[in-house]
Amino acid sequence: MHFSVSNSVLQALKADCLGPFENIFIKRDDLIHPIVSGNKWRKLEFAIKKALAENKNHLVTFGGAYSNHMVATACAGASLGLKTSCFIRGDELQGTANHYLFSAQLYGMELIPVSREQYRLKSTLFEEYFGTQAHTYFVAEGGESTEGIEGVEKIIAELEFVPDYIVHASATATTACGLGSGLQKIQAQNTQVLSIAVLKNKEEQTTKIENLGLQNICEIIEGFECGGYAKTNTELLLFCKDFIRQTGIMIDPVYTGKALFAMAQLLKNGTIDPHKKTVFLHTGGTLGIFSDKFRGLMG
Ligand SMILES: *Cc1c(COP(=O)(O)O)cnc(C)c1O
Repeated sequence: MHFSVSNSVLQALKADCLGPFENIFIKRDDLIHPIVSGNKWRKLEFAIKKALAENKNHLVTFGGAYSNHMVATACAGASLGLKTSCFIRGDELQGTANHYLFSAQLYGMELIPVSREQYRLKSTLFEEYFGTQAHTYFVAEGGESTEGIEGVEKIIAELEFVPDYIVHASATATTACGLGSGLQKIQAQNTQVLSIAVLKNKEEQTTKIENLGLQNICEIIEGFECGGYAKTNTELLLFCKDFIRQTGIMIDPVYTGKALFAMAQLLKNGTIDPHKKTVFLHTGGTLGIFSDKFRGLMG
């Protein structure tokens, strides 16, 4: 089996755009794989183990045209000799429409573009297309699952020290829940997970955290969405450019850029105590920066 999620490195992080702070570290989950997004890879590990244990040979999932999860599933499938299919939101989309769809197609994924209305009826679609096929395994959009949480927990076990803060980009709160439950398992008393919402869904994310009883560990931070998912502004784009130049670490304005921008503000306003240890989790997603949209805006 050629699918494993290896220990990623933890590095000291200093950059002018973050301010004059010491004690900041970055967990390089972006280095887990050159194409596939770090946290999507983490979220798949145990789902795929389960699929294999159940003798499944075909992963079926869902994604938008810019889905890191879609590409991760396609790559994992190709690595293991599993068939992969993905329902794509938007019936006009072809496998050549952008580099996400193109990568997924190169990895051998079957792309099934459906209308936005059809896409909303996920379980119906899965039943209709694959309901009679015993060897298909359903992977939820974005890898959101208990197996996904379990995969993320491993990040905590890998850390060389227990930090005071962990900061990361958050969308479905699966990563947040995994970090929180990983910390609970090692009985870390003093670590706060600051999950920066990259879209305006704080309430939805908070509910998921509360359902797992992790509200004392994880906090969803709002106010850094820049208008919503994949929306940007000049300040954020400039920050991303500065960060990339000052560190040699690639980030994107959709996920990690927003979370790092937020972290810089939280350090400056004292929400994060700069004397304590902060780990920023780089969740990957660097394909995002190569989108036509950002090339236009940042070039
Ligand atoms: C999907 C994704 C996230 C959000 O993870 P959730 O578990 O959905 O909160 C963060 N960063 C990157 C790069 C992603 O691709």
